[in-house]
Amino acid sequence: MHKSVFSFSPALLILFSFFLILVSCGEQPDEDLTVYTNATIWTGTGETPLENAALLVSDGKVVQVMQMDDADFPRRAASVDLEGRYVIPGLINAHAHVGVADGLIGGVDAHNTDNVIRQLRLYARYGITTVVSLGDEPIHAFLVRDNIDQAENGMARIFLAGDVLNPSSAGDAADEVAERIERNPDWSKIRVDDGLGTRDKMSPEVYSAVIEASHSHGVPLAAHIVTLEDAKGVLQSGADLIAHSVRNEPVDDDFIDMMLERNVCLTPTLTREVSTYIYAERPPFFDDPFFTREVAPAIIENLQLPRVQELFKGESADFYRNALPLAERNMMDLHEAGVRIAMGTDSGPPARFQGYFEHMEMEMMEAAGMSPLDVLTSATRFAAECTFIDDELGTLEPGKQADFVVLDQNPLQSIRNLRSIHAVYIGGNAVNLTPLNRGDR
Ligand SMILES: [Zn+2]
Repeated sequence: MHKSVFSFSPALLILFSFFLILVSCGEQPDEDLTVYTNATIWTGTGETPLENAALLVSDGKVVQVMQMDDADFPRRAASVDLEGRYVIPGLINAHAHVGVADGLIGGVDAHNTDNVIRQLRLYARYGITTVVSLGDEPIHAFLVRDNIDQAENGMARIFLAGDVLNPSSAGDAADEVAERIERNPDWSKIRVDDGLGTRDKMSPEVYSAVIEASHSHGVPLAAHIVTLEDAKGVLQSGADLIAHSVRNEPVDDDFIDMMLERNVCLTPTLTREVSTYIYAERPPFFDDPFFTREVAPAIIENLQLPRVQELFKGESADFYRNALPLAERNMMDLHEAGVRIAMGTDSGPPARFQGYFEHMEMEMMEAAGMSPLDVLTSATRFAAECTFIDDELGTLEPGKQADFVVLDQNPLQSIRNLRSIHAVYIGGNAVNLTPLNRGDR
């Protein structure tokens, strides 16, 4: 039975020669290195965009952003040609809500794992590669965060606050916070808001205790506010993020100085205001293909029923409609004074459409006076820094996650060009951009 090693069968010989050819030419792709070539790359770091550039990705992380003619340009990597296209870091929403509603249905009927996954994929298809969900998520959102690799499954990365904290007294704060900490939240959230006079507002004594308790567990706290007085109050007590615009009066120098001193950011959530009144009549975006491609026709029909339209009329709707120009002006005053604005929408509750509303928000920020560069920075680097996830996310730099969006048009010319999505990558994985056909839901 013994055969000499030199007595090759013809088939083996052919295989062996093929192997030799492969080894000798040395051009087989390096398995783990992908290079995205010929693009204009805006890294989000503050540098001007690199033209005729390449993005090197290995193992889901950025290796380098480099000029195509650079001597170090790798020849052996798998390559994706992005000729004429634009690459930006994945967009980050610093104030969203995931899994709290399903279409127009809120509450427990919406609470399930599939819904969380579906929403994270929806964000991803719109180029929103990370969402910081600030409160009231069901346990399913934590299960998805902890047990499913979002990057490998075409979903936006998720960070969570869990149940909004609302102890009945300062004495109960420590216990309530300790109980919520068991789910390992990334953030804590409070609401300091009397619902335009319809309910009690959390007192400074209580929110100070909650903030202190949250910090004792190493968890930052985001505060929902409406008024300037409350915004100052929560800042004074140590809040780490102002989750909405100030909507009752112009911001003053005192507040701006406090924000700068404490290095705290604000998420304007302008589209949250829009969502309170816009459905009183048929909104123009119901004819926008960028909207309709992801929203079931039944939802669009429902929001045009006269009895539904009535829900978006009245005192509350009037207040927020009137507050919007003030919110925009306050955003600009803070922005111009050097306070970091983190893009955030409050999308996720019924009729605050995830994905589409982030684009609407950014377009509104631009219309209010921010340059496209400033809006992009707000939705990438600042959103990451302001939510303390910038060690891995927010810019395209060596060692950070390869989360990026490829666009056909230049977003630095107009924010509306962010709609020209050619591809979305999360951790180096291409997201499937085909809208989900949801039938009636
Ligand atoms: Zn919110």
